[in-house]
Amino acid sequence: MNSEDVFQIFRETNALLSGHFELRSGLHSDQYFQCALVCQWPRVVEKLCAALAGKWNERNAPIDTVIAPAMGGLVIGQEMARALNKRFIFVEKQNNKLELRRFAIKPGERFLVAEDVMTRGGRIQETIEIVRANGGIVDSICVLVDRSGGKAAFDVPVTSLLRWEPTTWKPEDCPLCAKSEPITHPGSK
Ligand SMILES: [Zn+2]
Repeated sequence: MNSEDVFQIFRETNALLSGHFELRSGLHSDQYFQCALVCQWPRVVEKLCAALAGKWNERNAPIDTVIAPAMGGLVIGQEMARALNKRFIFVEKQNNKLELRRFAIKPGERFLVAEDVMTRGGRIQETIEIVRANGGIVDSICVLVDRSGGKAAFDVPVTSLLRWEPTTWKPEDCPLCAKSEPITHPGSK
């Protein structure tokens, strides 16, 4: 599965939209990506994660368990665990920070951290710290989409299915504003 195949799937599921968007950052873009819309389709996610697992498998590293930060990482984590035939657990928001609430980590247990989209990688870093604080070992990270532009740095390897950064502009520099294209605010209902 190459990058164009992945983009094609994102467009078919309406996860990747073209238009004129005001992002939460206040920047404008001609594209908007909403990963949850891909995750509506289990068979599609299964296919994407099988491809991601294939890429990750080149590491040939033993792991015991896949862990993901809820909510965004849940579907990808579950499907990666299925593809690799491993256990799957998650950390979840409690009082505005991620916590391990329902599961136990054994000393020396080896983890793959899974996430849907990596931007600055803050949730991934929090998950890594939780694993280590509980005596586990983080082997590596896998993400469906890396949109960090290389700015998210970790001390373990990252495998991504797609590296992609949307083009963004400040409102005053936006060519779509210059053409008076109507703007949409995705993600706000
Ligand atoms: Zn604009």
